[in-house]
Amino acid sequence: MRKPKLLMTPGPTPLPPEVITAMSQQIIHHRTKEFAEIFSRVNENLKKVFQTKNNVLTFAASGTGAMEASAVNFFSEGDTVLVVSVGVFGDRFINICKTFGLNVIEKKYPHGEAANIDEIIDILENDKSNIKGVFITHNETSTGVTNPIEKLARYLKDKDKILIVDAVSSLGAIDLKTDEWGVDVVVTGSQKALMSPPGLAFVSVSDKAWEFYKTSKLRKFYWDFKKYQDNLLKESQDTPFTPAVTLIRAVDVGLKLLLDYGLENNFKRHTRLAKLTQLAVDKLNLELLPKKEYSSAVITAIKAPEGIDIEKVRKIMNQKYDIMVAGGQANLKGKIIRIGHMGYVDEFDLLKTIQCFELSLLECGYKNFEVGEPTKAILQEIAKEVV
Ligand code: PLP
Repeated sequence: MRKPKLLMTPGPTPLPPEVITAMSQQIIHHRTKEFAEIFSRVNENLKKVFQTKNNVLTFAASGTGAMEASAVNFFSEGDTVLVVSVGVFGDRFINICKTFGLNVIEKKYPHGEAANIDEIIDILENDKSNIKGVFITHNETSTGVTNPIEKLARYLKDKDKILIVDAVSSLGAIDLKTDEWGVDVVVTGSQKALMSPPGLAFVSVSDKAWEFYKTSKLRKFYWDFKKYQDNLLKESQDTPFTPAVTLIRAVDVGLKLLLDYGLENNFKRHTRLAKLTQLAVDKLNLELLPKKEYSSAVITAIKAPEGIDIEKVRKIMNQKYDIMVAGGQANLKGKIIRIGHMGYVDEFDLLKTIQCFELSLLECGYKNFEVGEPTKAILQEIAKEVV
């Protein structure tokens, strides 16, 4: 008998039972009062999670769709944008912007490092090419790095440029004060910290960004933000095209669970899961890919031990113990392993993961640790709460 796989990956993440139940209902029509009620509640709750007063637009798409939409809605061919990349998802923004003919200034950092915000501000201060927008990833899932974006957002607040942030793997789990910091466009997806299935993408748009929308000449139809905004401004809120009704029902429940638990509590919970994972990594005598100060609260990237086939470790965890963790992407393939601790997972899921990580490492020949010590480090930390 096998249990369902435990997804300790950086998305999709496991679903709470209430969310699964919400998806087993008969379809309702989307031009009805019943749907409008659900959809406006979703919008109100999304605003709370995005920490914004602005409407949050909902798309039937994965996160990448919304990333693309955030380029085509605010710029015109030939516009100059600065794209900051610390990994695979920053590079994706570069590719998207180039695809649409934007003039891209790339500011890349080695994988495992966080963006140096002072350096970025320096580029903007000395800019002669009229940079209109800055793109940056909040949490770079491929390297387990969280960029300190607050300072950049506050710097850009009164400038004639907009800040577009990919918060696909962070929103709801890592603090992002959209309005207070002044982030113009925030993009996220349903399948990570929002404890919902894949398939929906969400975008918040500031007043400043709407001004940029007015002059944008890039072609758009399905992705045209105004169509979605207009439908949210109606009394009976809906979407311009047929929405993914079942997924919206699921997100409705996921958001309610998240907000009942409390946004601040959820940030703390994820930070704690990261801390527990880091304790285990220390006891395994392994190294994090990023410096601890930038290591993500939702995913821990660990360097593969010398001479050990880390992909084999991952395979054993998956096939023998039914625990899925992630490997490295692009140039980090085979060099790191990434343990996700995002969304509907708790410290006991993490304990089990670390136990099986220990066993799988041993099976692959890595013996440079005291068996049971990594797990014990986590348990002892949890025990502090009960004694
Ligand atoms: N941005 C980040 C930071 C991500 O982690 C991901 C997915 O893992 C994406 C963008 C792309 O999202 P999707 O796979 O939903 O298109």
